[in-house]
Formats: sequence, C-alpha cells, structure tokens
Amino acid sequence: MPSSSENPFGNPDVIVIGAGNAAACAALAAREQGASVIMIEAAPKEEAGGNSRYTAGAMRVVFNGPEDLKKIIPDLTDAEIAGADFGSYTTDQFYDDMGRLTEYRTDPDLAEILITRSLDTLIWMQKKGVKFQASFGRQAHKVDGKFKFFGGLACETWGGGEGLVDLEHKAAMKAGVQIFYDTPAIELIETDEGIGGVKVRVGNKKIDIYAKAVILACGGFESNAEMRAKYLGPNWDLAKVRGTRFNTGGGLNMALNVGAMPYGQWSGCHSVSWDLNAPPFGDLVVGDSYQKHSYPFGIMINARGERFVDEGADIRNYTYAKYGKIVLEQPNMFAWQVFDAKISPKLRDEYRIRQVTKVQANTLEELATLLEGVDAAAFLKTVQEFNAAVMDQVPLNLAIKDGRGTKNLTIPKSNWANAIDTGPFEAYAVTCGVTFTFGGIKINNHGEVENTSGKPIPGLYAAGEIVGGLFYYNYPGGTGLTSGSVFGKIAGDSAGKAVSKK
Ligand SMILES: Cc1cc2nc3c(=O)[nH]c(=O)nc-3n(C[C@H](O)[C@H](O)[C@H](O)COP(=O)(O)OP(=O)(O)OC[C@H]3O[C@@H](n4cnc5c(N)ncnc54)[C@H](O)[C@@H]3O)c2cc1C
Repeated sequence: MPSSSENPFGNPDVIVIGAGNAAACAALAAREQGASVIMIEAAPKEEAGGNSRYTAGAMRVVFNGPEDLKKIIPDLTDAEIAGADFGSYTTDQFYDDMGRLTEYRTDPDLAEILITRSLDTLIWMQKKGVKFQASFGRQAHKVDGKFKFFGGLACETWGGGEGLVDLEHKAAMKAGVQIFYDTPAIELIETDEGIGGVKVRVGNKKIDIYAKAVILACGGFESNAEMRAKYLGPNWDLAKVRGTRFNTGGGLNMALNVGAMPYGQWSGCHSVSWDLNAPPFGDLVVGDSYQKHSYPFGIMINARGERFVDEGADIRNYTYAKYGKIVLEQPNMFAWQVFDAKISPKLRDEYRIRQVTKVQANTLEELATLLEGVDAAAFLKTVQEFNAAVMDQVPLNLAIKDGRGTKNLTIPKSNWANAIDTGPFEAYAVTCGVTFTFGGIKINNHGEVENTSGKPIPGLYAAGEIVGGLFYYNYPGGTGLTSGSVFGKIAGDSAGKAVSKK
C-alpha cells in the first residue's frame, strides 16, 4: 500500500466513481447506511458534475395531482396551484411512455423500479437539500389565462443542472463525503472476494485506492469519438457533444474488463437538433440552449430543400431525442428550421440567445438565398406544396396535439401545421448534438453489476447513464436525471448495507 502522503484518499468503505447526479445520490444513500464514502471525479472542479450539470433539471416523476408535487416543491403556493392545470402523470402513463418510445424493449424490471420509485426518490432528494420548482417556463402553455402543463414533465430542479449539482455536492460534503477532482479512475482492482478498489490517475501517478465496494456512476461513451464511430456507426464521430467532455466510456471499459455484462442498445443514443456552430463539447455558460426544440411548430429543410421528417408527429418531449439522428443522416449533416411571423414570437427561449445560427428575411425568396447549403428553388417548391397541404380549417393549438395536419404530402406533418406565409421569416441552422449513449452494463434490482453469467460481481454497483437496458431508440424527456437518482439511491443503499456486514 502507498504511504498516506502518496494516498490522500484514506480507506473508504465505498468509492463512487463520478460526481454527477447518479454519483451524488449513490454517495448520499451509502452514507445514510453508515458507510464512509468518497467520490472520484475525472473533471477539475470548474467542470465537475458531468452531464447532470448541463441539464435544465427537468425530472419526470409520477404525480397524481398538485398534492404530490407539493411533497417535492413545498413552497408551491396556493395561487400557483390555482393558476395552473398541472394535470397528473400516473404510473400507467409513465409505463406507456417508456414502452411506446422504446418500442417495448425497455427492461421491465428496470422500468418498474424507475417508475414506481420516482416520487419517493425525489421526496428523498428534497429532504437531502435539493430544491425543485414547477416547470412553468418550458413545460406549460397559457390557455385562457391558465398554465396548462403537457408531456408529463411538471417539475424541474431549482437553478437547473447547476443548481442540482451544487446542492447535491453541498449535501454530500455536509454528510462527510469527500470529492476528489481531476482524478480519473482507470482500472478496477480485483481481489479473491470481488472488486476491492480502483486505480486512479493523479497527475502522472497511478494510485490504488482500496475499498469494500465501488459504485460506477461515470456516464456513457458519448464524449469519445472513437467509441461513437465504433458502436453508433459512421458519422457519429462528427456529431457535436452536448455535455461534458469527460464521459469517455472509461467506466464501461473498466466494467467490461472485469466481466460485466454489456446490456441495452449499444448502437443507440439520445441526440437532438443542436446549433450548427455550437462548440464540439458542451459550454456550461450556454447550457442546453444550443438545442432548438420548437421544430414541431415549423418545418425542417435539408440541403436538397426538402422536408425529411414529420416535425409534428408528437409533442417535443417525445420526439426531440430521436430527431438528432435523423438530422445526422441528412446530406452534410445539417438542417434549417423555418418559421414564419405567426410562430416566431412563440419560440422557446433558446432561440433568443446570442450564440445562434439564424437568418431572417421579409420574403421567402430572399430567405431562400440565405439558407446556406440549401437548393433554393427546391426549398421554395417545398414551402409552396406544404402551405397548400395545411388543414387550415382545424384550429392551431400549441398546448395540445391539435390534429392540424397536412393532406397528401409524402412526408406528412401530423400536428401544428401552419402555412409558412407571413413575413418576416426566420430560419435556424442545426446539426446533430449527442446527449448520452443508451448502451451500458447490466445491473440487477439491487444495483449490483451482473457478470456475463448473470451473477452479481461482488462489490461492484452501478447507476445512471452507465446502466444499459432502459432506453432504446428514443427517450421520454426528463427521464435521465430521474433514472440516475432512483438507481443511484438503490446502488448506494445496497453498497452501504453490504459494507456494513463486511
Ligand atoms: C445539454 C443536456 C441537457 C440535458 N437535459 C436533461 C434534463 O433536463 N432532464 C434530464 O432528465 N436529463 C437531461 N439530460 C440527460 C442527463 O444529463 C443525464 O441522463 C444524467 O445527467 C446522467 O447522470 P449521470 O450521473 O449518470 O452522468 P453524468 O452526470 O454525466 O456524470 C458522470 C460523471 O462521471 C465522471 N467521469 C466520467 N469518467 C470518469 C472516470 N473514468 N473517472 C472518474 N470520473 C469519471 C464525469 O466527469 C461526471 O462527473 C441532459 C443532458 C445534456 C447533455
């Protein structure tokens, strides 16, 4: 063993790898069971907190009415409740969404745990110091003077991802958990009993940290171009990364090296329409605002000047995570989102940031010349055909799936079809931004990592993006954080209980 001057990590019972939401929940839960816990974070402090920190903090949770939301958001006022139609998001609706969006491939055990423990887990987080608020800004439209919530996403963390991670790290430190930054884990240490610690890199040194249990909460491989090309396929190496640059698949490779079972859709990921000129990795100042998610209310055009997807197939929460892939598949991997003056005042906040790739024109003919890379004549023909196909006898209603579609188009638009006919016109250039990868390792219902024979690897637990089996093809918005919290807490509880018996 190295001397204590070489090894500042002590002899913890539990090592949590990562410092995002799943890691923080795991650390807090293990600590609650009485274990001594440290967190090992690859990023320096300024960039710590993983993708969790880049989020808007939207969290999908079962609630049967505002009274359940009050349990998570105690300061939700009576006036706010009276001025809003929160509706409810039942267990059945969550099951339906997980089934439908994953084409019924989601692991039934994992989905059941995610759904049935979502509310209790958020209540637990709130008690630990995380603050929540109602998502008035992004998940509600004002209808007849009342905020009407849509898409099962009524709640978000206060201060978004920054607020979430900040309060979680504060709670962890208050509970006696030390966080070591700039400390990537590089290898799991195997003993005759199972996993007995982790090798980390500190500067140029490699240091072994010994512990009774290790919890992997260190994300997927979305920030690793080589792994993206290998598993997701051609051109994915060229996609922009929406979040942290530190999720390079190290945890997955370490786990596979000790015999963990690969699980879930390794060829799939969550990816969105993301500003064409966004930097290669996420920017904590801009956060998620490079995304462009009002496309259901406009049209999307590729280099051939053609529409290529039903922009209004469903509300944004249920299509945005699979449309990045479709943009990636277009010639030269870009698209323009086009809106007219009837819709532009209703665009989401992210369309009004300074760092936006936008053109504007008073006429469609002028706009066509400004859409860089697009066949202008084909674009004008597409708009003409689209406008003629709009079922304008059906009223436009952005708050619901309004059924205002198109007639006789090869690629229909199913809702919110709106003729692009009133200047000034606006267009926004997007490419594919990858959020996180779906493939991972297999855990059992206690958060223990299983080996390829289906047996738990003693001392090894996992939670968050690194776990495979929940998401395939698509994803209901706001589920990533909830999954990290639910499975983080389970992994922490299990590891904490197991080490107390050793
Ligand atoms: C821009 C953006 C917006 C999003 N918005 C939402 C939203 O509103 N709601 C929602 O539910 N989801 C959202 N997501 C998805 C969400 O971020 C993830 O599903 C969730 O944060 C995953 O949590 P995690 O703890 O598993 O991973 P992360 O938060 O990514 O944490 C992984 C941690 O592991 C560390 N790490 C990686 N490798 C190593 C290593 N070898 N050694 C040590 N540490 C390592 C990383 O530095 C990081 O701290 C968004 C994602 C992005 C990028």
